[in-house]
Amino acid sequence: MRSIRSLALIATVIAACAQPTSYDLVVANGRVMDPESGLDAVRHVGITGGQIAVVSEKPLTGKRVIDAANHVVAPGFIDLHEHGQQEDSYRMMVRDGVTTALELEVGVPDVAKFYGDRAAGQIVNYGAAVGHIGARMKVLGDPSTTILPAGIGGTGSATEAQVAEMEAMLRKGLAEGAVAVGLGSAYTPGATMDEIQRMFKVAAEGNASAHIHIRNGLAGLDSTIAAAKAAGAKLHIVHANSVGGDTLAPFFAKIQAARDAGQDVTTEAYPYGAGMTSIQSALFDDWKTWPDAKFGLHQLVSTGERLTRKTFEEARKKGGTVIIHGRTEEQTRSAIVSPLTMIASDGFIENGRGHPRTSGTFAKVLGKYVRDEKALPLMEALRKMTIAPAKRLEARVPSMATKGRIRAGADADLTIFDPATVIDKATYEDATIPSAGIPYVIVGGQVVVDAGQVTAARPGRAVRAPVK
Ligand SMILES: [Zn+2]
Repeated sequence: MRSIRSLALIATVIAACAQPTSYDLVVANGRVMDPESGLDAVRHVGITGGQIAVVSEKPLTGKRVIDAANHVVAPGFIDLHEHGQQEDSYRMMVRDGVTTALELEVGVPDVAKFYGDRAAGQIVNYGAAVGHIGARMKVLGDPSTTILPAGIGGTGSATEAQVAEMEAMLRKGLAEGAVAVGLGSAYTPGATMDEIQRMFKVAAEGNASAHIHIRNGLAGLDSTIAAAKAAGAKLHIVHANSVGGDTLAPFFAKIQAARDAGQDVTTEAYPYGAGMTSIQSALFDDWKTWPDAKFGLHQLVSTGERLTRKTFEEARKKGGTVIIHGRTEEQTRSAIVSPLTMIASDGFIENGRGHPRTSGTFAKVLGKYVRDEKALPLMEALRKMTIAPAKRLEARVPSMATKGRIRAGADADLTIFDPATVIDKATYEDATIPSAGIPYVIVGGQVVVDAGQVTAARPGRAVRAPVK
């Protein structure tokens, strides 16, 4: 009798276990693509407590079920280069599939304040580097009120004591949990390569990658790779498409050669033929020597007008942001296709104006280059947007080891798009037109884009290295 009763009890327990688990959220019937494992199949994703609990071949039940039939379910996109760290930019990016937006090039001067200001929750996950440019502006007393120098912070030379002060500022930022160290030698022509190498050394001490907007094309790439090697720093060259210009093949060959020799060097690109920067930056210090035709390649962001010598001079006095046209479509395509590049937007929106890369980078790669031109496979494009940037950071930022992947235990950051219709819509005249074909975006298990509309949820959390 006793054994029969025990068996009955066991049967009851088994029956209870067989009751279908109900998840907080289920993404059903989608084509799940995970570049880390190579999984590319119809699956059902069960989400509980902000994490992926199961990736199942069988249907699941949940408090809410999103039907993703005929859609791709990808890890949320991770953007390593996003200057727009506020609500209006986050709103545009999330419509483009971005679930983690990181300001790693210019970085921020006050890391603790950056995280403190956003701690109530944002649409997407956020994070920042501590920046050499900002540190240099402060130490040398630059007059600019923007993130880029307009005078001595860019062009001045620093004394030994001033370089030491910059090192101390970077160390403080790293201790406060900065994701990386950001630099822009193109914006700081007064900084010697020795000064840059000193900053790389601080990055290396913190096990941080150094993300740099280099100067001087191929020669600048050589000296930057050499400085990073001497300092023992992990190096990330931002927007190869713009700094590589019309020498992209040898540019990538140099990065590959450094990698083959065992150096940790990575890079990124955005899919547009025009760049954008501050009109007062050192990049334009030689403007008086330009031929007349060159001014017409410059478009003022505030008004959309193309400039002349006269209006360029006026705008340079006044300040503002300018879009620089000029690269060929062939250059852009080869930068996107290269196996070396991750996809990163370099975007920002200010007062409703900006560069379309802020709003359209990821959808443009998926729609134009993957679907329409078949320039690269979909899984490869997703790798560049998810697992590759996650791995770039995870040695310093352990929380990145659960992003950029679809598997049990990973963060439930997911982007759900229609591969037949996904496309960018933002233009150089209106950078705030959202991308199409991305109906659902999930951050930390909460739906932040629902049937194409941004919801009131603010589940985005800090991406931050351990605070010392
Ligand atoms: Zn940038």
